Amino acid sequence: MTAQRIDGKAFAATVREKVAGHVARLKEENDIIPGLAVVLVGEDPASQVYVRSKGKQTTEVGMNSYEHKLDVETSEADLLALIDQLNNDAKVHGILVQLPLPKHLNENLVINAIDPAKDVDGFHISNVGLLGTGQKSMVPCTPLGCLMMLRDHHGSLSGMEAVVIGRSNIVGKPMAQLLLGDSCTVTIAHSRTKDLPEVVRRADIVVAAVGRPEMVPGDWIKQGATVIDVGINRIERDGKTKLVGDVDFASCSESAGAITPVPGGVGPMTIACLLANTVTACCRANDVAEPEGLTA
Ligand code: NDP
Repeated sequence: MTAQRIDGKAFAATVREKVAGHVARLKEENDIIPGLAVVLVGEDPASQVYVRSKGKQTTEVGMNSYEHKLDVETSEADLLALIDQLNNDAKVHGILVQLPLPKHLNENLVINAIDPAKDVDGFHISNVGLLGTGQKSMVPCTPLGCLMMLRDHHGSLSGMEAVVIGRSNIVGKPMAQLLLGDSCTVTIAHSRTKDLPEVVRRADIVVAAVGRPEMVPGDWIKQGATVIDVGINRIERDGKTKLVGDVDFASCSESAGAITPVPGGVGPMTIACLLANTVTACCRANDVAEPEGLTA
C-alpha cells in the first residue's frame, strides 16, 4: 500500500480562510476586530521566526496583531505586569507567551498569570483541567490541528485504537485527551513503554510526538493505519540540513493508509489553530456565536 498524503499546508489554508470569514463577519456585524498579543522575551532565533510568522498570519486574516518584544534580562515582575495589562485590555482577545522563556523566569507562573479566557495556547492550568474533564476550554494548537486533520480524513474517530507516542504537556497529553473525547481507545506511550513496536502495531491512529528523527519504522505500523507525525527534527544528510519527522516517512508510507509529511503536515496547522483559537476566544468574550469546526 502507498499511503495517502495528508496535506497539512492545504488544510491550514482552509482553516485560515474560515477564520478570515469569521473575522470579516465580526467586523461587519459586531464592529469587533479580534486581537492577538504575542510576547517574546529575548532573542532566540527560532522563537523570533515563529513570532514573525504568527504576526504576519494574524494580520493576513484581518485580525490585529500586537507584538511585545522584551529584553532577555526582563524581570518576572515586569513580565507579569505586562500580562496583567494585556489581561485587562479589551482589544486583546488572545495572549501567547512564546516559549521557552529565559531560565530566570518561571514558565508555570507566567503561563498561569494569563487570563484563561485569553490563553490561546491552552496551557493555563484551568484550560488543562477543563480539557481533562471534557468541558469547553482553549485547546492547545498542535494537538487541535492533529485532531482536525484526523476528523477531516476519517469523519468519526469513535472506537478507533489510537497510540500517542510522547507524554509532554503541550502535545502528547492533550492529544490523548482529545482522542479520548472523540471516543478512541487511547494508549499513551513514552520512553519507559515496554515493547513499543507491539504497542504501536495495535493502532489504527498513530500520533508521534517524540523529538527523535525517523524513530518509527514502517514495520511498526499496522496496514492501513493513519500516521500523524508531529516531530520536527533538523538533521544533516548528504551535506545538507533537512527537516524530518519522528517517523520514517518512506517506510511508513508503505504500510500506512494515510500519513502527514514533514514539513507540510502538522507544522502549518499549529499557527492556523492559533488563529482559530483567537477568533473563538473573541466570540466567547463578546457572547457572539462561535465558528463551527474550529475547535474541539
Ligand atoms: P518533549 O521532549 O517534551 O516530549 C517527548 C516525549 O517523547 C516524552 O514524553 C518522552 O518520554 C518521549 N520519548 C522520548 N524518547 C522516546 C523513545 N525512545 N520512545 C518512546 N518515547 C520517547 O517533546 P514535545 O512533545 O514538546 O515535542 C515532540 C516533537 O514534536 C518535537 O520534535 C517537537 O519539535 C515537535 N513539535 C512540533 C510542533 C509543531 O507545530 N509541529 C509543536 C510542538 C512540538 P518521557 O516522558 O518518558 O521522557
